Amino acid sequence: MQEQLRKSDTLSVVGELAAGIAHEIRNPMTALKGFIQLLENSVGKDHEMYFNVITSEFQRIESIITEFLVLAKPQAIQYQETNLIRIMKDTVELLSAQAVMHNVQYEERYQEDLPTIVAEPNQLKQVFINVIKNAIEVMSDGGVISISIGETEDGLIHIEIKDQGGGISKDKIKKLGEPFYTTKERGTGLGLMVSFKIIKEHKGSVQVESIVGEGTVFHIYLPKS
Ligand code: ADP
Ligand code: MG
Repeated sequence: MQEQLRKSDTLSVVGELAAGIAHEIRNPMTALKGFIQLLENSVGKDHEMYFNVITSEFQRIESIITEFLVLAKPQAIQYQETNLIRIMKDTVELLSAQAVMHNVQYEERYQEDLPTIVAEPNQLKQVFINVIKNAIEVMSDGGVISISIGETEDGLIHIEIKDQGGGISKDKIKKLGEPFYTTKERGTGLGLMVSFKIIKEHKGSVQVESIVGEGTVFHIYLPKS
């Protein structure tokens, strides 16, 4: 018990520290970004390649920081009656440009009278974004992402996100959610860790099914409140 208390104390100190650092890094980054833009405009096309690299590295730093901020929980967490279908539709909309670029279509199935649940909408949205973004990213030749939300017979909310990507082998499935585990050149390996943590905080669970060469299904189960 004592040990556990100490552990959670340490975790929250680390969390606050991470949040503080992330905020501190963000401010100078905003300034840098502005000046880089100015520079790009005045230098013109000559060094386009350099600027492409700078921009993509910037995006990488930004996504690491955003994911750390979610992890460190600095925002006011507000649990409230939440309509999961609305959040999912927002997420799909948010990622629509990326989906088009990857030639990905969505198939959505939602239970009509789905009850609302008490949850943190922004955090759940972050989970949906992370999982769907991964799905889009693995479908390099396009395809369909099937999303469904409904109730299970034993009274849980079941969110299913299915892709037609390359799949994940059994031994790699175990590594999902490990900090910094990524197979992407530009990955952070933080998205799933953050997502699993959020679902756990909602007293839910995640199951991953995958067939190499066929695709992957993420099942997220949340308790009804
Ligand atoms: P990142 O996307 O930055 O790599 P994530 O934590 O989101 O970090 O994902 C970790 C790794 O899990 C990915 O690099 C990828 O190898 C694997 N992964 C996640 N989702 C899928 C998926 N839908 N299909 C195949 N592999 C996946
Ligand atoms: Mg990811």
